[in-house]
Amino acid sequence: MANFRELLAATKAQIREVTPEQAERERGRATFLDVREADEHDQGTVPGSIFLPRGNLELSIEGKIPDKSTPVVVYCAGGARSALAAKSLTELGYTDVVSMSGGFNQWKNEGRDWITPQSLSADIRRTDVSECRRCATFCDRVIRPATCVAAGCSALYHYDDPLTGRRYMGCLHKVFATEIDVELFQQAERTRNGFGAVKLAAAPLRRCQFDVERAYEAEEDACVNRRFFDSPDEAPDAVRAFDLRDRL
Ligand code: SF4
Ligand code: SF4
Repeated sequence: MANFRELLAATKAQIREVTPEQAERERGRATFLDVREADEHDQGTVPGSIFLPRGNLELSIEGKIPDKSTPVVVYCAGGARSALAAKSLTELGYTDVVSMSGGFNQWKNEGRDWITPQSLSADIRRTDVSECRRCATFCDRVIRPATCVAAGCSALYHYDDPLTGRRYMGCLHKVFATEIDVELFQQAERTRNGFGAVKLAAAPLRRCQFDVERAYEAEEDACVNRRFFDSPDEAPDAVRAFDLRDRL
């Protein structure tokens, strides 16, 4: 099975890429499509762009760009997501699609025109607390419920299901949303790997010992969102997450 780098290289071989300089020459002719996440878009975008995060691309593109012969310049932060998006658009029948290599970061760093758009709804931002997709690494914040148990967190609740007689536990703050079968949890904890981690559903509190799990290997220093490793609670004793690979 191909890893992400191989997949990206294969994708780039199937699409057309342009530099920001070449893309700028297309302004006025092509539609610029920003496929980054809401918080990235809110911090700056190419004027006149259509905003459609990569995750909603296939679902919503035909409503945003009905004419499939429209010239489209797709961009993200660095050129990886836009390459994948350009391939998807081509597969959907769009005939004149290019991906902007270097993405918005290079566009901006080279002094090209950009604006700060109106901010978007809080709903769109909600996933930002649990996942970051700003580079090709794709990180998720996760927590091991065992750390909540070990810390004796007062937000950890238990209840007995009257129908099954089984006991479940969960987080009152819904930092993790899963309700966990306590007996299965204890069985798993007795094994070498333990119960493992669950993805966060809400922003961690300063007491939550969350980790950051990376889906793909990326270049050193590729991270452009180091705050993702910090608790959003900015108190001095707030937790800084571990990169789970450090434990391998
Ligand atoms: S608040 Fe944090 S530490 Fe407490 S149960 Fe919820 S996730 Fe665990
Ligand atoms: S490495 Fe950094 S920028 Fe890339 S996805 Fe992870 S947190 Fe986001």
